[in-house]
Amino acid sequence: WAKDDGKGRWTLFDPERNEHRMTRQSLSSTLRQAVERGEFVLDYQPLVALDTGEVRGVEALVRWEHPHFGRLGPGRFIGLAEEDGSIVQLGRWVLAESCRQAAAWQRERPDTPLVVSVNVAVRQVWDSDLVADVAAILHETGLPPQLLQLELTESAVMGSAGRPLQALHALHEMGVRIAIDDFGTGYSNLAYMSRLPVSTLKLDGSFVQGFRSAEHPNPADETIVEALVDLAHRLGLTVTAECVENAEQAERLRRIGCDTGQGWHYSRPVAAASISRLLD
Ligand code: C2E
Ligand code: MG
Ligand code: MG
Ligand code: MG
Repeated sequence: WAKDDGKGRWTLFDPERNEHRMTRQSLSSTLRQAVERGEFVLDYQPLVALDTGEVRGVEALVRWEHPHFGRLGPGRFIGLAEEDGSIVQLGRWVLAESCRQAAAWQRERPDTPLVVSVNVAVRQVWDSDLVADVAAILHETGLPPQLLQLELTESAVMGSAGRPLQALHALHEMGVRIAIDDFGTGYSNLAYMSRLPVSTLKLDGSFVQGFRSAEHPNPADETIVEALVDLAHRLGLTVTAECVENAEQAERLRRIGCDTGQGWHYSRPVAAASISRLLD
């Protein structure tokens, strides 16, 4: 059974197969080779225009097809990969694979632009030549830069002088879009964000989950989202809501004027082939 101590540390006890105990250490020691062995796969989750219901893009979400433990979600290994630095290699693979896939979708459907949104870890901005990697990958895959969006967290860009700031500006000049992921969970300095070359805020799922319901009759989160969307729009930013799980939430977000929604109401993250079917 898996035991989580609430701080992101966990262990899996399996007395039957002691040789394959899933510990942080056992995963960490195989992370690096896992990229080379091609054990990672990407699922994609649609980003849907709230007013028309059209699919505008997809977020690429990484999974590890572990030879012993089966399919592992990113919560199990992204933190480890950030700690031991293998995130740089993994992140480069994620970027290359999602751009390759997006370019293929683009060739199949030249009249339907589909943005691919890729999560970028703090360490990728600091420890790798992200700008050069992105430029090379766009060149190799032929994906138009406007169809690539990079998702960074607030902590990755807050107070970012020097290298991260230069990287953001260089990517923006290339035509790549920047989104702030999980917006509202960190410092949430909207004034600061508006001075960065950011085009989209992705409102953290906790806001939508706090919308009015039988259990929560006082919709403070709805008021906050309304104010945030209004302010973001005045600052020239678009807003995506995460964790849209039902039609009622989608309708409220649409009325508030939120631009895009993402969540189980539209689709779970699915394999690339399912996205192709969805687009047809
Ligand atoms: P995120 O970027 O905020 O991604 C959204 C997460 O919310 C995904 O979890 C997705 O499966 C989940 N989700 C989507 N719709 C709903 C919904 O309606 N309700 C609820 N409750 N959840 C929903 P996932 O795939 O487990 O990814 C978790 C996090 O791992 C991501 O959060 C992202 O921060 C990170 N991650 C994923 N792929 C990568 C990657 O390639 N690189 C890096 N650096 N981080 C990644
Ligand atoms: Mg994300
Ligand atoms: Mg997010
Ligand atoms: Mg989130």
